[in-house]
Amino acid sequence: MNMMTELKTEAQFVDQFGRGKRKLRISVTDRCNFKCVYCMPEHPEWMKKHDLLSFEELYQFCDFMVRRGIESIRITGGEPLMRQGVVHFIAQLQDLKKLGLKRISMTTNAHYLKQYTQALKQAGLDDLNISLDSLDADQFKQLTQKELAPILDGIRAAQAAGLPIKINSVLMNGINDNQILPLARWSVQEKVHLRFIEFMPLDGDRKWSTEHVVSEQQILATLATEFAVTSQAIDLAQLNSDPARQYFIDGHPIGMISTITHSFCGTCDRVRLTAQGEFYNCLFAPKGLNLKAEIKALVPSEPLSEVSLSSALSNYIWNKEHGFHAIEQRLKNQSMNQNSRKISMHMLGG
Ligand code: SAM
Ligand code: SF4
Repeated sequence: MNMMTELKTEAQFVDQFGRGKRKLRISVTDRCNFKCVYCMPEHPEWMKKHDLLSFEELYQFCDFMVRRGIESIRITGGEPLMRQGVVHFIAQLQDLKKLGLKRISMTTNAHYLKQYTQALKQAGLDDLNISLDSLDADQFKQLTQKELAPILDGIRAAQAAGLPIKINSVLMNGINDNQILPLARWSVQEKVHLRFIEFMPLDGDRKWSTEHVVSEQQILATLATEFAVTSQAIDLAQLNSDPARQYFIDGHPIGMISTITHSFCGTCDRVRLTAQGEFYNCLFAPKGLNLKAEIKALVPSEPLSEVSLSSALSNYIWNKEHGFHAIEQRLKNQSMNQNSRKISMHMLGG
């Protein structure tokens, strides 16, 4: 056994339900030029720039995590393309592929994508998830406060550059649920992989309620009015711990990320870090773990810095709860609600 395998097998992070951690999401900024109604609070309080971890610190943390079994890193935010230096960071992360990292991905609103496509490709980005919740320019503006055209340009640029993309669409009842068929038709026409996401209680202003959720069942019923809808024979989502359940419309793949009605928590292999060094073992975790000091200590490689980070993390990751429904139930039992936590999706990174 070589040194690298030894390190990985010795220290892979596993939770109490036996779920090993293979995917890390890093939010590089909480800032965003969009104001998606399901995400951004009306009056965001941005993290202070000097509180953010530097890319050097983030790199050392990624190195540490890859040596403990992380195979896939997703760069997210806020809007990741708003943080200067992010492309260089992606290029640097390529070095971790020799330690076992397999994929470097990004989730973006695509507003700045056209101008960054070539650089991202050159930096070795493996794939992109792009958020697009409406093809109607007026509705898009109401949802995000921004124009639709640059997003479509960004998508075309990524496709032309050969960067693999997936489109994520969050649907809200009475707001953009009329986009199910237009987005589905467009995905077939443009040959892109579309995934509908159920609206989760992670919006900044905590207005979420079950009435706003457009369920997987509702989406499938709408799709069936126009397409032949079939599902995958084996549930590959479960096998690959992919959050999206896979269907086909007229033979074209389409995914459903239905955390609310069909939680995928049972196979969850994801963990995440905010831009200022707070670590979350779950999107819905009632509390994060502040690792800022431990991560900063990795850079000068202070003695025992890895040991103290490792011990804090293994304990926190081990205690990861079963998932969304378990956390929701526990909070209800404690007569609190999920809104008591003050962190929302733009800080956590989706
Ligand atoms: N700004 C980038 C973007 O929008 O793609 C990356 C960050 S964003 C927080 C990541 C993903 O989270 C997006 O696909 C977005 O649609 C999703 N998201 C944000 N708030 C959500 C919510 N309350 N429920 C479900 N998905 C949400
Ligand atoms: Fe910004 Fe993404 Fe949140 Fe929309 S979903 S407000 S683009 S961080």
